Amino acid sequence: MLRPGAQRGLLLSSLRLQGSPGRPRSACGRQGEENAPLSAETRWKDRAETVIIGGGCIGVSLAYHLAKAGMKDVVLLEKSELTAGSTWHAAGLTTYFHPGINLKKIHYASIKLYEKLEEETGQVVGFHQPGSIRIATTPVRVDEFKYQMTRTGWHATEQYIIEPEKIQEMFPLLNMNKILAGLYNPGDGHIDPYSLTMALAAGARKYGALLKYPAPVTSLIPRSDGTWDVETPQGSMRANRIVNAAGFWAREVGKMVGLEHPLIPVQHQYVVTSTIPEVKALKRELPVLRDLEGSYYLRQERDGLLFGPYESQEKMQVQDSWVTNGVPPGFGKELFESDLDRIMEHVEAAMEMVPVLKKADIINIVNGPITYSPDILPMVGPHQGVRNYWVAIGFGYGIIHAGGVGKYLSDWILHGEPPFDLIELDPNRYGKWTTTQYTEAKARESYGFNNIVGYPKEERFAGRPTQRVSGLYKILESKCSMGFHAGWEQPHWFYKPGQDSRYRPSFRRTNWFEPVGSEYKQVMQNVGVIDLSPFGKFNIKGQDSVRLLDHLFANVIPKVGFTNISHMLTPKGRVYAELTVSHQTPGEFLLITGSGSELHDLRWIEEEAVNGGYDVEIKNITDELGVLGIAGPHARKVLQKLTSEDLSDDVFKFLQTKSLKVSNIPVTAIRISYTGELGWELYHRREDSVALYDIIMNAGQEEGIDNFGTYAMNALRLEKAFRAWGSEMNCDTNPLEAGLDYFIKLNKPADFIGKQALKQIKAKGLKRRLVCLTLATDDVDPEGNESIWYDGKVVGNTTSGSYSYSVQKSLAFAYVPVELSKVGQQVEVELLGTNYPATVIQEPLVLAEPARNRLRKKNGKDKI
Ligand SMILES: Cc1cc2nc3c(=O)[nH]c(=O)nc-3n(C[C@H](O)[C@H](O)[C@H](O)COP(=O)(O)OP(=O)(O)OC[C@H]3O[C@@H](n4cnc5c(N)ncnc54)[C@H](O)[C@@H]3O)c2cc1C
Repeated sequence: MLRPGAQRGLLLSSLRLQGSPGRPRSACGRQGEENAPLSAETRWKDRAETVIIGGGCIGVSLAYHLAKAGMKDVVLLEKSELTAGSTWHAAGLTTYFHPGINLKKIHYASIKLYEKLEEETGQVVGFHQPGSIRIATTPVRVDEFKYQMTRTGWHATEQYIIEPEKIQEMFPLLNMNKILAGLYNPGDGHIDPYSLTMALAAGARKYGALLKYPAPVTSLIPRSDGTWDVETPQGSMRANRIVNAAGFWAREVGKMVGLEHPLIPVQHQYVVTSTIPEVKALKRELPVLRDLEGSYYLRQERDGLLFGPYESQEKMQVQDSWVTNGVPPGFGKELFESDLDRIMEHVEAAMEMVPVLKKADIINIVNGPITYSPDILPMVGPHQGVRNYWVAIGFGYGIIHAGGVGKYLSDWILHGEPPFDLIELDPNRYGKWTTTQYTEAKARESYGFNNIVGYPKEERFAGRPTQRVSGLYKILESKCSMGFHAGWEQPHWFYKPGQDSRYRPSFRRTNWFEPVGSEYKQVMQNVGVIDLSPFGKFNIKGQDSVRLLDHLFANVIPKVGFTNISHMLTPKGRVYAELTVSHQTPGEFLLITGSGSELHDLRWIEEEAVNGGYDVEIKNITDELGVLGIAGPHARKVLQKLTSEDLSDDVFKFLQTKSLKVSNIPVTAIRISYTGELGWELYHRREDSVALYDIIMNAGQEEGIDNFGTYAMNALRLEKAFRAWGSEMNCDTNPLEAGLDYFIKLNKPADFIGKQALKQIKAKGLKRRLVCLTLATDDVDPEGNESIWYDGKVVGNTTSGSYSYSVQKSLAFAYVPVELSKVGQQVEVELLGTNYPATVIQEPLVLAEPARNRLRKKNGKDKI
């Protein structure tokens, strides 16, 4: 065993520390800056507005924010002592950087809070902000940095690409041999997680929250009025709402309410060195370094260094026994045995990058549990299916998330809607398909991929396929590149014999570009078939169904036999969801939503139904139905061969829905297509998918029918200027700026959710507007979330993009200030470090079939 201070270099492969090292302290810390543990409260309450289960950084941050915002009766119950889960031993790294979009806001809010927490609470937090540099040693990393720059440009986050000279100046201990560039975030750094939590606790108490420990929650009993009896050995408490913030015990707490949260603890290690003379000699603290190829982070810890690697998925260690047998009773502030062999290749990479490490002695190794969800993003928000049960669990990076997530959740709880779009953290993105086996495979992959290049259109393959595949999976899997959507596999694009079928992600156009062009042509000129089974599908009926939907949706209720596109708005008048609503028989509806929003939408609908006392039956029939889309000018001709139902334009109108038989297979057919071409969506029993597909493909031989995937569909819908939920509209946007006016019926009699707010938004006038842009690029297309420039400043952002195979230019939707939204306006779209001139165009670029049809009829050419 190596004891602190022993004179050995890191290279010694026999190194192995055992036992529980002490809590690491802040780098460059001042003597006595730590906070004493707060004394436990003796009070008890019988009633609480919100009970938070778990006193780690997340639970305590929520208590702080709720109490600060004025909520009375906030109670946090902690089973042993505050920070006694993952929090106390975290490395404490804080960064503004996030490769996604919405989480940047969370990181930003956390850092801004941590900067002023000491002043506010009088408790030191040990916050150091020397900045951080991500290191690129390959050209593709440099592309990734450029990609990340354009995604960050329209956010508050400060971020720059810096040259090697600048990197060396900021981090003089680096071996510069391979370094090409750095991504620099000023203000990044690290905080002492224990002190942070204690400061948040002090704040929470100051504002009136009760933080009670030890008080282990042993059971949760729901009452019929939606409240909970929360039981502990200390007594029971009635709560209006409970929030599970129990860290790596979150599965155990979930089981108390009948849920299996897809979480799994993984082991994460970091190593702390003793004083290194070269570090001690520095005049200022080193920025935090992230060597992406070496897959580790490294920061200064007092006069030494702290180094934390992410092993590959093959080498990393999942604590799967905790999933099978539960967290061992009594496991609290323990750590796992350290295992340096597992991280040796990263140690070597670090020694090459920062050569002074070769002379460093290890004084501490920390190996602790981090809770991973399958995609390593936390689960935050109300949970579908269990009333008044909220979660804030699955935090891989809880220290940087705590401040922002606490505020976000507190706002949501207090105002009844999320303060901004954070759909990627929706706990309802998972479902029954998220098995333990899947969760483990994904956690391994996510951990191992911590530092891999983040490409647009990224696919990850571990744990796939799940049991949720469509009936067509077996037929299609060898013909196409599949995308993963909420457990389903859905064709992205199809390859023909001889075409390169590999998954080849790129920041530029890649091997799918030409095949997608062919699929595009297939639908525009001929007829194509697409598997749409991943859609979320609900059946709603009952005596109050019309009243409920009229209250939920901003559009009118479609007549029986018809369909419309309808939006559920939030009370503040922003877009919560977009669904296709079909009125099948009087009072009975089929609701369709995107695959990613199935339980997100269902939760909202169910909650409104219960809260409003509507007499309805709501059934999630997602897994019962398959969906085939058929689209293109020959769609009618092919389908008509298979049914006695008259499909002619006047008899089966656009947006009409009918139950019919295709050959012998019963389907609900809706005349609608997201391609904007003549088409039907055929909803059928899932077991009939293969037969239905075969029949249609055979019937379409003469017309040259073929498959198409979602990439082609995206290009087709963009040309038609069809908005997509999650891109052009979400709870950050109101439907008017998104150009959804047509679907919003402000003068319908029902006082639908968001109506009053939207009226006010309309009266005040819009500040920004969604526009369509075309731009000429070389080999790169917009994806969405790129910066829009005008007059040397960032003025907006794209929301989605594609290549337009019709005009052979790039095409994007973007939000720009109203004064820059006129047709013909010139702006610039930043793509991989280049600002491309772009023009606001009259949308749509290509008229949809129903519009073309109407025009043709108007011009007297109604016979096709
Ligand atoms: C080695 C290591 C390094 C890390 N480094 C970083 C980093 O640099 N930056 C970063 O952002 N993140 C880091 N993390 C991750 C971070 O530590 C966690 O994401 C974060 O601490 C999670 O906080 P939490 O509040 O969700 O859970 P926890 O801290 O685990 O807290 C959960 C609490 O719930 C309590 N509890 C459980 N069950 C019950 C019950 N039934 N009743 C009452 N109370 C209960 C527990 O006692 C515990 O105190 C690191 C993690 C590890 C292991």
